Amino acid sequence: MQTEERLRADIVEVGRRLHERGFVASNDGNISVRLEGDRLLTTPTGVSKGFMTPDMMVTTDLAGGKLTGEREPSSEILMHLAVYENRPEIKAVVHAHPPTATGFAVAGIPLDRAVLAEVVTTLGSIPIADYGTPSTSELADAVRQYIRAHDGLLLANHGALTVADELFAAYYKMETVEHFARISLVARQLGRERLLSREEVNRLQDLRDRYGIAAPAPICPTDPENGPDLSCQTLEAPAQPGEQVVDTQAVDSSRAGTRDASDESHGGSGRQPLDLGSGLLGSDEEIRLTYRELTALIADAVKQLQ
Ligand SMILES: [Zn+2]
Repeated sequence: MQTEERLRADIVEVGRRLHERGFVASNDGNISVRLEGDRLLTTPTGVSKGFMTPDMMVTTDLAGGKLTGEREPSSEILMHLAVYENRPEIKAVVHAHPPTATGFAVAGIPLDRAVLAEVVTTLGSIPIADYGTPSTSELADAVRQYIRAHDGLLLANHGALTVADELFAAYYKMETVEHFARISLVARQLGRERLLSREEVNRLQDLRDRYGIAAPAPICPTDPENGPDLSCQTLEAPAQPGEQVVDTQAVDSSRAGTRDASDESHGGSGRQPLDLGSGLLGSDEEIRLTYRELTALIADAVKQLQ
C-alpha cells in the first residue's frame, strides 16, 4: 500500500491531467482512493481538479463520514462508496465528463460494440448506467447495477466512471473510454462500423484468461437478445460474417425520418428528388444527403437544364 502522502500527490496529478485533457470543466469530476483501515481519501467538493494541492484532500470512513480535512468530501461520494462496497479489490475510482464519451451517454448509445481488440481485452463493454440525480443515492444505485461486471461505465446524461486496483490504472481507463468514444464517433460519421466476429471475441477472451488480464466478469458468450445480462459483459459481435458491417447512417433515425417524410409528401411511386424548397425545412437548417441522394439531385438538375 502506498503512503497517504504519495496518494495525495497522485490525486493532484490525476486531477491536473483530467483538467488538461478537457475531461472536466469548472469543478466537475471527482477522484478517490482506498486507504488502509477502512478509510477513503477523496477530492474535496467545489474545487477545480486542475488546481488542487495535496492538503485539500479529505479522508472519510466507508460510510462517507468525514474523518479529516478542512473541506467537505466530494458531492459524489455515494457513487464512490457504491463501487468500493461492491468491488473489494478496487482501490481507486475516477469520475469525469470527457466530452465524446459523455456525448454517447447523452445520446443513450452505449460503447458496447466489439470493434477494437485492445478495448475488448481490457474494458470489455462500456454500458450506460441509468440516469440518477447527481449526488443522490439514485446515481449510486444506477452504478451499483453495472459495476460488478464492468471497470468502465457511462452515466446517462452525465459523464463516465472508471475503477481499478490502482489510481493511475483507473485514470488510464478513463483515457481509454474517451479515446474509444472518439474512434467510434469518427467511424459512425464515416458511415459504417465493421465489427469483430463472435469467433474473434472468443479468441480475445481466451487471451484475457491466458495473460491474466484482470476483468471483473467474462464477456457474455452470445450477442444480447433480451436486454443486457448484468453478470457478464455484453458485447455486440455477430456470429454471421454477413452481419459484421453496421451501416451507421441508420443510427440517425430522427433525421432519416424527416427525410422520408419529405419524400412521401411528393406522393407517387418510386424515388422522388428532394425538394429543398418544400417549406418542410427552414432555409438555414442543415440537411444530410447520402451520396446517392446527392448524385440523384444533381442528375435531376442537369436534366431540367437540358
Ligand atoms: Zn459528474
